[in-house]
Amino acid sequence: MKYISTRGQAPELTFEQAMLTGLAVDGGLYVPATWPQLDKGQIAALAGKTYEETAFIVMKPFIGDTFPDDEFRAIIARAYAGFDHVARVPLVQIGANDFLLELHHGPTLAFKDVAMQLIGQMFEAALKRAGKRVTIVGATSGDTGSAAIEAFKGLDAVDVIILYPHGRVSEVQRRQMTTPDESNVHAVAMDGDFDDCQARLKDMFNDSDFREAVKLAGVNSINWARVLAQVVYYFTSAVALGAPHRKVSFTVPTGNFGDIFAAYVAKRMGLPIDRLVIATNQNDILHRTLTSGQHTKQGVTPSISPSMDIQVSSNFERLLFDLYHREGAAVAQLMAELGQGGFSLSQGARDALALEFDSGKCSEAETSATIKRMVKQTGQVLCPHSAVAVKVAQEQRGNPATPMIALATAHAAKFPDAVEAACGIRPDLPAHMADLFERPERVTRCTNDLSALESLIHEKIAR
Ligand SMILES: *Cc1c(COP(=O)(O)O)cnc(C)c1O
Repeated sequence: MKYISTRGQAPELTFEQAMLTGLAVDGGLYVPATWPQLDKGQIAALAGKTYEETAFIVMKPFIGDTFPDDEFRAIIARAYAGFDHVARVPLVQIGANDFLLELHHGPTLAFKDVAMQLIGQMFEAALKRAGKRVTIVGATSGDTGSAAIEAFKGLDAVDVIILYPHGRVSEVQRRQMTTPDESNVHAVAMDGDFDDCQARLKDMFNDSDFREAVKLAGVNSINWARVLAQVVYYFTSAVALGAPHRKVSFTVPTGNFGDIFAAYVAKRMGLPIDRLVIATNQNDILHRTLTSGQHTKQGVTPSISPSMDIQVSSNFERLLFDLYHREGAAVAQLMAELGQGGFSLSQGARDALALEFDSGKCSEAETSATIKRMVKQTGQVLCPHSAVAVKVAQEQRGNPATPMIALATAHAAKFPDAVEAACGIRPDLPAHMADLFERPERVTRCTNDLSALESLIHEKIAR
């Protein structure tokens, strides 16, 4: 499989190159040149397989011969061994034909672990083989950073620097990033919001001297390997509920558009998905795009679902590429307009978008009310992101005979204040991180300034 840039001006890469590179040199994102297909028989044959076996089958066409089959199976096994549930991503029933897909059984209690644990193992295997060393710089709204630090800490061939918006992540999220003491991982609290962190990260990738000097690599959800790892659970959950013989629908709490783009990939591969619903909090650029055809940035308003406090959803570019018939020049033009504040979708793109996706938004009050109602109706204590999904899923329910799966993207204990305020229950951290609040923190403050960040990174990786 070859990988091409959404802006059409970067060289084609192999899976391994695309994974180690992250962002393309033309500023675009890598996507596979074609969508591999699984036919009905192949999907039916996934029934009863373990998560790991399904992961191998779904991802294999995308990675080609990057790793020998045995090695790839071993990588997958190591990635998910640390999950605390044998099903890895269990389904829980919350209504007559409504389900939660629990994606928070990994080491940092959010769905980011599903991809990051796998990427950690793949980076290690690929870099070791090549005798190379890289510097991973990531921007996080909270959960990506802790998942990356957890997945890469202690590895020999990788330094990790994570930028998070100072004061805008939950205390649990912050401590998960600042308490690991391995010398190859570093948390940086930057002035500004998540979009500022992400913008500076993109600037670093566009600074070719810096990029080369530190061997910059990215593991944000712009990294194709992250999206790929997330495609797997759409297959496991749909098959558990009867696919390919019946369709299922998904509602995905959305920020950077990586998770729901993975659902779209599963659909392109042949998984019979009925409705694909984008759920946003009050930062609703994607919901506005679906309803008005205008993709226009507004300021970010902090919410109780902070991992979705985003107005520039990077992975939306991958969808635009398909909506504009894979014309890189058209995508480059739209992205330039977005830099000036926003763009309007063409009528054709708008129609194609509406064919694939529905959307809904959830206010702060509705998020809290949903947490409270779910405790009463099911005994489930949801994190605020998962509550956004449940609320929008019920609103966009559609055909009652079609199962609706809402993605539960984090454990409630990651957001204890918001959850307690909503339902009166203060969720406990699992035993393996019960002493999180006693561990010493290590973090560097930095201004929202490219050259300050670049010198800081040079300093951190100097040995
Ligand atoms: C990252 C995150 C999201 C948003 O996922 P995207 O792939 O960025 O759309 C939702 N919920 C939680 C808990 C997250 O950590």
